[in-house]
Parts: sequence; C-alpha cells; structure tokens
Amino acid sequence: MKALIAVLPGDGIGPEVMAEARRVLTAVGARFGHAFELREAKFGGCAIDAGGVPLPDDTLALCREADAVLLGAVGGPKWERAPRPEEGLLALRKDLGVYANLRPVVAHQRLAHASTLRPEVIAGVDLLIVRELTGGLYFGKKESAAGYAVDTCTYTEHEVERLVRAGARLAKRRRKRLCSVDKANVLETSRLWRRVAERVVRDEFPSVQLSHQLVDSCAMQLVRDPRQFDVIVTENMFGDILSDEAAMIAGSIGMLPSASLGDGKRGLYEPIHGSAPDIAGKGVANPLGTILAAAMLLRLSLGLQEEAEAVEGAVSAAVERGVLTADLAKNGSAASTREVGIAVLDALNAKGD
Ligand code: NAD
Repeated sequence: MKALIAVLPGDGIGPEVMAEARRVLTAVGARFGHAFELREAKFGGCAIDAGGVPLPDDTLALCREADAVLLGAVGGPKWERAPRPEEGLLALRKDLGVYANLRPVVAHQRLAHASTLRPEVIAGVDLLIVRELTGGLYFGKKESAAGYAVDTCTYTEHEVERLVRAGARLAKRRRKRLCSVDKANVLETSRLWRRVAERVVRDEFPSVQLSHQLVDSCAMQLVRDPRQFDVIVTENMFGDILSDEAAMIAGSIGMLPSASLGDGKRGLYEPIHGSAPDIAGKGVANPLGTILAAAMLLRLSLGLQEEAEAVEGAVSAAVERGVLTADLAKNGSAASTREVGIAVLDALNAKGD
C-alpha cells in the first residue's frame, strides 16, 4: 500500500527517539512491500525558533494531507513564555478532530525489576486506558483575579457518548470488559458520564460487561490489582493522571505509546513521555514508546495488523534479549538509543528471513 506519514520529531529527545521509529517504519515498508512516504516538518519549540509559532501552516497542511501523524515530543525550559510548544499540540489535536486517547499498558516479565510494584502484582497485565481528550476541566471556562481562580468542568452527552463508544468497541475486540471511571458521588459531569455509559453499552454493546469505579478507588486498584482491568474509559483529567500512574506497571514512562483518534482513520501517534530535557542530546533515551506508537499507527490508521504485530514482536524480542536503555537496565549495563533501535531492527529483519 501507499501511505503518507507526517513525521514531527519535535524537541529534546523527540528527534532521537523519532530517528529509530523512522528506521523501523522504513524496514516494515521494505519487508512487507509498502511505499511509506515519511515527510518531516517542524513542530513545537523548534518551529517557534524557526518562525515564531509552534504549529506552522505548512506543518498543519502536511498533517491534514497525511494518512497519519507520528510525533516525538515537544517543549522544554527554553520555551516557557507564550507562545508555548504545548499550545501547538492542543491546536493540532483540535484541528485533526481527535478526541479519544488510547494508552495501552503491558507488563513485560523481563522488565519486572524496573517496576516499583511487586512482580506477582504486575505479571500478565494488559490494559488499555481510553482518555477523553477535548473536554472537561482543561478546556472549560477559566477565570482568575486577585485571591481566587476558577476552572469549569463541562461535558456534553455527545462527548461522553462517542468516547464510551470508542472504548466499548475496543473492549469488544479484547476481553470484553469495560470499566468506566468517574466521581459520580460528587460531580454532576460524572453523573452524566455514568448515565450515558450505561445507555451506550446496554443499547449498542450487549456482549460487553460494563462496570463503574470512582476515580480515587481506581487509582488504588491500579496498584493493588492491575490485572482486573481490560479497557478503562474516563474523562480528560482522570485519564491524564491514571495513565501516568499506570506507566509504572511497565517499568518506565519511556515504554508507553499512545494514539489519538477521531471519527475517521487518521490519527496522531506519540509516546506518552515529554521531551525529557534532562537527558536530551545524550543518546540514552528509550525509543520503544515511539516505536510502539508507530506500531499503533500501522494497525489503527493504515489497517496493517500483521505489520503492527511484527513491530510489537520485535520490541518484545529486543526487551527479552536485555538490550535496554538506562531507564530500564540493571547494574550499569545500559544500551544507547541507537543500540536499542538496532536490536529492534535485527529482530524485525530476522522474522522476515
Ligand atoms: P518527561 O516525560 O519529559 O520526563 C519525565 C522523566 O522521565 C524525566 O526524568 C525523563 O528523563 C524521563 N523520561 C521521559 N521519557 C524518557 C525516555 N524515552 N527514556 C528515558 N527516560 C525518559 O516529563 P517532564 O520532564 O515533566 O516534561 C519535560 C517537557 O516535556 C516539558 O516542557 C513538558 O511540557 C513537555 N511534555 C510534552 C509532552 C508531549 O510532547 N506530548 C508530554 C509531556 C510533557
């Protein structure tokens, strides 16, 4: 197949981890006979330096034209005043109409030592957090004056409906368990969330088993017994917090990919970590979150299931071989970003023999 992929390396470690993901996509194209065009553009802090805005018109035009967008990370201490790189990210998500943020969390046995949780608690964890991306406190009316500040949390029935539907659709293809997370004992928006979740699952997904958890209890259950979860659907801020908490199950924030999807096939794919200014430029960042984001892109935007599995299998093989960056390695035996990328490519190419 032919596909145009917009590549936005961004700032900090973004370009370093993106270089490895690019090589993996090129290798997948060669092995499976696809013509992937990877077209790069400036986004975030580097775009502010070049032209004063985080999301230049030509970058936005490329993302609109592309079948999918792969992003490294944006931001850093250099750009702390407006316009901020993160404004470009919110604008891009809005323009692409993406509202469901998928964050899978898988525990590799070989990485159990890197997690703060006991090995028997995380063994076999395979969960997916589906976070609402366009509503709630982050986008509600804001106000501040001397001595007080207000953030407003607003949700419409339509926003909840489409997010719950996205989560239920994914649960139907997995273990058919959907946990809706809210704070319905206190918040009106959560009571709406719960009512809509019950209606959507009852009317449209009879094979999916729906449960509800309050967000405080869910935060506790995620570290007590994470294996109980299959798919979690939740609102914007709860999902933001719970998914960073869940990252520790995988051992490092550098392991986790994410996909942001709307109604169509086009999506925005990125690791969940930021630009990590503390390690940028040293060649030590973990590229696996970005490589796994590329695998999600293959599956969800391009419909290439076998290719996505090949990439995920190659990542698992590199992890099994113990080729790990410093965030995961034991006893000072850390590999560089490039060495981890090479280990993934070796495994990918070996499977093609
Ligand atoms: P961060 O995720 O960049 O870093 C947190 C910690 O995790 C750091 O110690 C870092 O070294 C480590 N880390 C992150 N990714 C890693 C990787 N791939 N391999 C090894 N270690 C890794 O979060 P932060 O420090 O809070 O934010 C730094 C900048 O990134 C800020 O400007 C923030 O606004 C921005 N940010 C951007 C995004 C995005 O682009 N989507 C997301 C989060 C934060």
